[in-house]
Amino acid sequence: MSEPYYLKARRQNRRRLIGRLEHGSNAERQLAATLVACTEADPCLSGACTECGGLLQLAALDLANRFVRGPARALRGRMTMITVVPSWGCVLPRELDAAVCRRVLAAVKAAAVASGITPSIFSLDISFNEDLTGKGPLPHWCVHAAGLATDWFSPAQERPFRAAFSRSSWVKRPVWFERIDASGAADLYALKPDRGRRVTVWNERRLNAGGGPSTKTSPRGLRAIQADELAMVEHQLGLAGRVIGCGIDNDAVERALGGFNWARDGP
Ligand SMILES: [Zn+2]
Repeated sequence: MSEPYYLKARRQNRRRLIGRLEHGSNAERQLAATLVACTEADPCLSGACTECGGLLQLAALDLANRFVRGPARALRGRMTMITVVPSWGCVLPRELDAAVCRRVLAAVKAAAVASGITPSIFSLDISFNEDLTGKGPLPHWCVHAAGLATDWFSPAQERPFRAAFSRSSWVKRPVWFERIDASGAADLYALKPDRGRRVTVWNERRLNAGGGPSTKTSPRGLRAIQADELAMVEHQLGLAGRVIGCGIDNDAVERALGGFNWARDGP
């Protein structure tokens, strides 16, 4: 079987990133050297490394299999995919930092545990959102979380979790619950290490429910300047800081993900 297209794209983006960082600031050149030295036998474990991000994805997937998908099998395969986009996770270009990434996951964990959306696993995702309709927010980084939980939830069960993340002009729908079944590949997607741009344009072909013009949002690759900014932030954040377990034994999470807890040359 040939390599899936997204793995090819991942490698190509990584090579281009290294090429640019090699001509950047001291910190960027240092990160480039870290990424160049990364091998299968001796992974660099930088948060900016999508190869190592792929290893983390597999470890998180294993954790999800044991603690989310496993229990779901006893519930007729019922699982939920959850996307959480806190308004304050939206920041302007050059204002992205590791602190806001940590804050997003901490808030998601607190809300999941407090409202019983457990057992669940969430992974950080970061997109660069561009709205070209002239009606939307300014271009911005969108730090959000994608997760998987055992079982389906009623609107009453979802309500306290939803209440923790308020709507704003930046984010019209902060929380998405999607009922899925345990046989799908949604978990691979929810835990993906790849980052991209989301571009919103007017959709000429379709009217919205009110008969007005509608919009559509499509995935695109990050621009070079965006990928470079993001790489430095994700390197500082580290890999292990990117996945959390909610309502799952801490020791089990530590055993599965603790090995990702350092980058060779520090932040
Ligand atoms: Zn690596």
